[in-house]
Amino acid sequence: MNRKEQIEKINTNNNYDIIIIGGGATGLGCAVDAASRGYKTLLLEKFDFAKGTSSRATKLVHGGVRYLAQGNFRLVREALLERGRLLKNAPHVCHSIPFVVPSYRWWQKWYYGIGLWLYEFLSGKLSLGKTKLLSSSSALAQLPDLSSNHLTGGVLYFDGQFDDSRLAINLAQTAIEQGATVINYFGVTGFDKKNDKITGVKATDQLSGKSYELSARVVVNATGVFADELLQLAEGHSEKTIAPSQGIHLVLEHHFFRGNTAMMIPKTDDGRVLFVIPWQGKLLLGTTDTPIENITTEPIALKEEIEFIINHFNRYSTSKITSADVKSVFVGLRPLANQGSEKKTAVMPRDHVVKVLPSGLIHVTGGKWTTYRSMAEYAIDKAIQSAGLERVSCKTKNLKIHGWIKNKSTSSMSIYGTDEAEIQLMITADPVFSEKIHFNYSYTKAELLWFVSNEMAITVEDILARRTRLLFLDAKAAMEAAPMVVKTLAFFNGKDALWEKEELDKFNDLAKNYLINL
Ligand SMILES: Cc1cc2nc3c(=O)[nH]c(=O)nc-3n(C[C@H](O)[C@H](O)[C@H](O)COP(=O)(O)OP(=O)(O)OC[C@H]3O[C@@H](n4cnc5c(N)ncnc54)[C@H](O)[C@@H]3O)c2cc1C
Repeated sequence: MNRKEQIEKINTNNNYDIIIIGGGATGLGCAVDAASRGYKTLLLEKFDFAKGTSSRATKLVHGGVRYLAQGNFRLVREALLERGRLLKNAPHVCHSIPFVVPSYRWWQKWYYGIGLWLYEFLSGKLSLGKTKLLSSSSALAQLPDLSSNHLTGGVLYFDGQFDDSRLAINLAQTAIEQGATVINYFGVTGFDKKNDKITGVKATDQLSGKSYELSARVVVNATGVFADELLQLAEGHSEKTIAPSQGIHLVLEHHFFRGNTAMMIPKTDDGRVLFVIPWQGKLLLGTTDTPIENITTEPIALKEEIEFIINHFNRYSTSKITSADVKSVFVGLRPLANQGSEKKTAVMPRDHVVKVLPSGLIHVTGGKWTTYRSMAEYAIDKAIQSAGLERVSCKTKNLKIHGWIKNKSTSSMSIYGTDEAEIQLMITADPVFSEKIHFNYSYTKAELLWFVSNEMAITVEDILARRTRLLFLDAKAAMEAAPMVVKTLAFFNGKDALWEKEELDKFNDLAKNYLINL
């Protein structure tokens, strides 16, 4: 995957069947779907792939246990089917993980047990494992640091876990392999129209500053929480179709809650669920659901949100934490479809909405990572219909995603799937590539070079936030690794010392937002 080659493609031919704006889960899913059906497809992302919400998820491939409690069986069933498909189509980035829901009243075990049996039943043949009731000693065997005071047992169930931004990169690669043109750092600034109907987009290469006019039979707006900005450009009115809701995560050392099993706290003070999940050698706690007005690319965790998570964790754990124990805090904005008068975002459904607007723009909002594929199928079906393109049916249900591998290795590079062998070859050719980018983490110089030459990584942030996950795992370590990453980037791209300094300053300013300063 090479940016120069992708730009070369739009320089030589700029007429597309489908242009997709936004390189998060939704847009990338649409690009894979459209290209695999044989449509001439272009995806443009203003920043890096998954720079928005799609790198900031709780990393669960799930049906959504809490939607079950809301009685939304259709949504849960669809998500569970998609969960099963994703685990099959991208086994290198997704796997199943056991969860325990602890119970502290005699009836809770039965109450949650019945719900979770139903959850397993709805997944049908794509079930990831048997739901079981646990005695208190079995619950403690799974979660050794669980508070045992009044514990009556728990329920064991299975769900999926993944690395969101790595899946996004793999989807971009898959889309290109299926024939799409996919470019990051390329923002859409306006629309071309004929008789009030969109005929293409105006876009700017954020790196060269060059502007383009690119034509398409149909344009898909998959810009997440930014969708209303594009809606205004297309339709000229400022309707609010998105009700953004902020969710934060805290990352801690794993020893605060040991074991390989995750915990679901079934009812927080605001009536939600909260997860405590082992993730990439650390512990991920989250999340919150705070309606917000101000949409930015780098949302900031609120003090109340941090305290909320810490307080709930401490109620259930024998080891007590404070904000000083947090290695990283990361924040995402849910692009929830606005339900008009319903203001409380915690009860809004995570279902997607696809609208064909008067200008012909296909406007996609809502959804979740787990259902990105079915959402894309639906959006592209609508795009084909609205543009009058010749109908080809969806091909993605069993489409293997870039990196797919039958037998995953056990090394720290197994997440790269089939690409791991090529990265290992670099190390064999020159052992200097086995050097680590930070002494406490396994990421090597070989991976760094791989990201720059094969995964369109442009900035230090691309490498430390989304190609590796160091910024999300340990913000201080990411800042320590940044000088060597910036040097490699400068060497690779022929940049001078001034660029290095500016790039480093920019990264350090951003990384400070991932550290807690209460
Ligand atoms: C806290 C939290 C936890 C979550 N946890 C889970 C989970 O565990 N499992 C799950 O299944 N789902 C989860 N979700 C939901 C899931 O992450 C989102 O539904 C999904 O990532 C949304 O993807 P998107 O592509 O719609 O938006 P985004 O990822 O935000 O992508 C939109 C993209 O559009 C780009 N863009 C904006 N303007 C322009 C422009 N003018 N030109 C070009 N590009 C532009 C942006 O830069 C951005 O990259 C979670 C969400 C949150 C907030």
